[in-house]
Amino acid sequence: MADKSYAVIGLGRFGASVAQALYNMGYDVMVIDEDEERVQDHVGIATHAVQADTTDEQALRDVGIRNFDVVVVAIGADIQASILTTLILKEMGVKMIVAKAQNERHGQVLYKVGADRVVFPERDMGLRVAHNLISPNVLDFVELAADYSIAEVAVSEKTAGKTLIDLDVRARFGVNVMAIKSGDHFNIAPSADDLIKEGDILVVIGHNNDLKKFEEES
Ligand code: ADP
Repeated sequence: MADKSYAVIGLGRFGASVAQALYNMGYDVMVIDEDEERVQDHVGIATHAVQADTTDEQALRDVGIRNFDVVVVAIGADIQASILTTLILKEMGVKMIVAKAQNERHGQVLYKVGADRVVFPERDMGLRVAHNLISPNVLDFVELAADYSIAEVAVSEKTAGKTLIDLDVRARFGVNVMAIKSGDHFNIAPSADDLIKEGDILVVIGHNNDLKKFEEES
């Protein structure tokens, strides 16, 4: 077992998926849900599965929540329960709280009551899908800050056979190629004269407008 331990509160689609991935990677994962049936359904994807209402501070104390390195609050629809749970976890001194938000407002409140990180799964996935729909050669898209992102862009016919010098992406588009994926090989420090081949994927960082230009014209 890996040494870091995680607790995931709320076994909806998102929480269950996070818990399962962590468990499969060998981490110690406790899952908590107020719904006993959900808890029983997920016994196989966690080290411990516990039924508890996490808006009850004593219930969180009883499961030893402070002993976990990271607690993920994956309560979705019940916004009040998500906020209250996050607040109690913060007051109890949990080191790292990651909370799922339904919308921007919910996210702001989660930060205010003590979440260390807030994730917006629906919004982020929507953004990725939209970028992929607009430019099918954009395989993935991750927003870093309000206007800056990292995009994985499939190499077009136009780009194949060229080097980064030939492409001159910094001057032409204002973006940076961080890495080149070539089959199983991942070149994370590409040099200017590395040849880009058909089937390669470029990992590019930049302002969203510049990335869009790069996706369309490269
Ligand atoms: P998703 O959108 O990811 O499917 P849901 O909102 O459907 O998320 O699921 C959230 C889960 O959180 C549900 O299983 C629900 O029983 C659980 N939950 C809601 N409130 C609490 C609470 N106070 N304590 C523990 N679990 C809760």
